[in-house]
Amino acid sequence: MAQPGHVAVIGAGLGGVRTAEQLRSAGFEGAISLVGAEPHAPYDRPPLSKQVLTGAWAAERVVLRDLAALAEIDVDTRFGVPAVALHEGTVELADGTTLDADAFVIATGADPRRLPGQPEEVHTLRTLDDALSLRAALAGAKSLLVVGGGFIGAEVASGAAGQGLRVTVIEAARVPCERALGPEVGVLCGRLITEGGVELRLGATLTRFVDAHTVELAGGEQVTADVVLVGIGAAPALGWLSRSDVDVTNGIACDASGRVLGAPGVWAVGDVAAWADPVRGKHFRHEHWTSAVDQATVVARDIVGAEPQPRGLPYFWSDQFGLKIQGIGHPDLGDTVVRLKGEGLAGGAVKGTVAGYFADERLVGVVGFGAAKWVARYRALVGKGADRAEALALE
Ligand SMILES: Cc1cc2nc3c(=O)[nH]c(=O)nc-3n(C[C@H](O)[C@H](O)[C@H](O)COP(=O)(O)OP(=O)(O)OC[C@H]3O[C@@H](n4cnc5c(N)ncnc54)[C@H](O)[C@@H]3O)c2cc1C
Repeated sequence: MAQPGHVAVIGAGLGGVRTAEQLRSAGFEGAISLVGAEPHAPYDRPPLSKQVLTGAWAAERVVLRDLAALAEIDVDTRFGVPAVALHEGTVELADGTTLDADAFVIATGADPRRLPGQPEEVHTLRTLDDALSLRAALAGAKSLLVVGGGFIGAEVASGAAGQGLRVTVIEAARVPCERALGPEVGVLCGRLITEGGVELRLGATLTRFVDAHTVELAGGEQVTADVVLVGIGAAPALGWLSRSDVDVTNGIACDASGRVLGAPGVWAVGDVAAWADPVRGKHFRHEHWTSAVDQATVVARDIVGAEPQPRGLPYFWSDQFGLKIQGIGHPDLGDTVVRLKGEGLAGGAVKGTVAGYFADERLVGVVGFGAAKWVARYRALVGKGADRAEALALE
């Protein structure tokens, strides 16, 4: 296939900017346009709920590539103008302009989920502006209520507790992160939160917002805080594609090279994209930093017709309550969880715990708590699907 003359990348976050960079690295000499809804240069999101929230980092530090650096690799930028539609060969922008290209890469990420009746003043956290607004609110506050005990909620709870706020987390499930990590390891996530001085209310369902500071739980109890954050996950940012031919049922369905099904000349990467996942046997959205980076490389090489590179294993991390949680592989596919290192699964210290996830007696995932060295060493064993004896024997 001939290389396209012009690639338009829609969405100027991690996946978008990495796609542009990887196109140049793969030798692409045609035109690249990068369209971003936000006015900012592409920036990194993980520090938003960590260093930016606590003030340890100034906002400028999250920039991935500023305008000068994008100009250096000859990328034409349209920032502060969302795309509103994609038709064959043309993307339409909110200011009424259009952009014609031979290839399109959709990298519009995800939007934070909101609850019914959620007041405007209740915070969510996805963008740099969200983080700065939450940081400013926390600076003048004594208490924080976090709705949702997932990674982002726990990270914000951790940062706020560290700044001396009284923090409550309400979580509808029996343990935090149950769906992703399972009940046994979810208990450890819950212990991190409570041992970090945060009140964790499990099995607590929010029924309504009384106002921007008070929520009502099933049973009628009301919980009030100076600041409320809703952290209940994110939905793929697809609204702008509603007038297009692309199937947007649950993320943009793509093949294993990121080509959008039924839309020749269109690829998708990152949180918005549901790639064919050979391990799961279905399309799946990995909402993790490393996946967006990996997918950008695969897509750029596919566009220029370069040899594909071997894919890495899925990987995620979260920094909270003084330690790093790391996961490799597919923990959610495990049918059995086995203690590989540390004492957390037996009720001892969470720090140093490494849990192995087995499916049909093969290691499919590993999750570690403050155990970076071990997690790195288990990577190869997850990669080859080691059996239990080999996984337990690792010294
Ligand atoms: C607060 C926070 C903390 C995180 N921490 C971690 C972590 O510790 N570890 C980890 O593995 N992952 C973490 N993640 C997840 C990780 O950041 C994402 O997986 C990654 O950013 C996905 O990249 P993306 O390019 O798909 O989406 P994004 O980085 O969200 O970029 C999408 C971009 O598209 C733009 N856009 C949306 N709609 C349009 C439109 N119509 N037209 C043009 N532009 C549009 C958006 O404004 C945005 O800039 C975190 C995410 C958040 C929000």
